[in-house]
Amino acid sequence: MNIKLRIVLELMICLLLNIGTFYGQKVNSNNTLDLYLLIGQSNMAGRGVIDDESQHTSENILTLDKTGNWVVAKDPLHFDKPYAGVGPGLSFAQAMLEDQGKIKIGLIPCAWGGSPIKVWSSGAKYFENFPYDEAIARAKIAMQKGQLKGILWHQGESDNDASRSVVYFEKLKELIANFRKDLNAPNLPFIAGEIGRFNQADYINKIVNTLPTEVENTAVVSSEGLVDKGDQLHFDSASARELGKRYAEAMKKILKEASSATSKKRPKIVLTFDDAEITHYRNVAPLLKKYGFNATFFVCEFPIKKSGQENEYMTWKQIKELHQQGFEIGNHTGHHKNLTKLSPDDMKKEIAYIDEKCQAFGIPKPVSLAYPGNRNDSISQRIVKEMGYKYARAGGAKNYNPKTDNPFAIPSFTVIDSEKYKARTLNGLKNIQNDEILVLTFHGVPDVLDPDYSTSIELLDEIFAFIKEKKYKVVAMRDL
Ligand SMILES: [Zn+2]
Repeated sequence: MNIKLRIVLELMICLLLNIGTFYGQKVNSNNTLDLYLLIGQSNMAGRGVIDDESQHTSENILTLDKTGNWVVAKDPLHFDKPYAGVGPGLSFAQAMLEDQGKIKIGLIPCAWGGSPIKVWSSGAKYFENFPYDEAIARAKIAMQKGQLKGILWHQGESDNDASRSVVYFEKLKELIANFRKDLNAPNLPFIAGEIGRFNQADYINKIVNTLPTEVENTAVVSSEGLVDKGDQLHFDSASARELGKRYAEAMKKILKEASSATSKKRPKIVLTFDDAEITHYRNVAPLLKKYGFNATFFVCEFPIKKSGQENEYMTWKQIKELHQQGFEIGNHTGHHKNLTKLSPDDMKKEIAYIDEKCQAFGIPKPVSLAYPGNRNDSISQRIVKEMGYKYARAGGAKNYNPKTDNPFAIPSFTVIDSEKYKARTLNGLKNIQNDEILVLTFHGVPDVLDPDYSTSIELLDEIFAFIKEKKYKVVAMRDL
């Protein structure tokens, strides 16, 4: 039986029967692991002398052994040669654990001493092994127990000459692209290490250092000050460990950048409540507080048709309280008139009415406006802008794209109690893309005066819970 087939069969059998390992004690790894793939040549595999420090192990750092089982990590992590020793892998994992709380790390050692970059591609054989294919197979086994967080690459000594170095960069880019594709992780962090500066020739480090400008989510760690074990080729144990710490520093930085980039791009939700209904004060504000959401209340003095109806609206004192609780007070115009039917002068009066009321009650001048009945035209848009507004909301039931849409006609989804509107809202929330904005418009919660525009507290709660679960960013309109 050929060696490759045997290795694959061994891995499969161990996996299927979940039998113990022949090498070391098997460990229960039910917790999710942060996984790191270690690839390259001898300095990744480790050639430092095993010493006392090598005895320090942790239950929180596991390694996938030769047979595909998780064991407590200990040098040598690798098994490419009988003399594998201290490499950067373990000190990398120890440094990754620092200030990280509860995480557990799973290392996937796959380096092969002496391997040139050309054997790190699919189907390429290196003596009796297939470095790339086996690394992919082992990574996939590991990924059943955790999430692959990154790749550490240390290689180049075997390509460190005038002719091989010329093609090195293209091969390295291809290698990164292949790993990311085959592991289904298009943005997987990839960190390369400089080879020891004690090497006689100096071709590879210059090339490797151009990586971060050419390929996203990559970094290079320096080998400055690191020393060899006397052979001008391999790091000694202390230098290998220092290299591991440098890998960890670079990995933490790249992971942090990636997570802040994702959070910046998270979809944004704007919750807006129209007409200054009393239920906004009584029911909505407490629920918003419970979820930690901000919101925009578009207030007006709604025309009272029958006596007693005034009790259904907030007083200015209550509106001021909403402002004091941190919510945005927006302008819904003085008396809820259709702006498109007013002269420019009357339009300005209706808008200024709310500006003045806010000033009288110590509420900042609004910067967001909602057109009454969502009715607007190019004249009303222009006037709103001229009066110092930044945003104006309309209807239209579609997402708002700040790059292409008009900020003076921001579309919104009206939400009311009906299966159709509920489905439309949840669907809109489900399908929103990163960097898109979705604005929701509510009236009374519930609405006593106009049941057609009512939203129950239960539905509002359900929508809030959905937004929370999806970790969308909820902002007031002024903060767009
Ligand atoms: Zn309204």
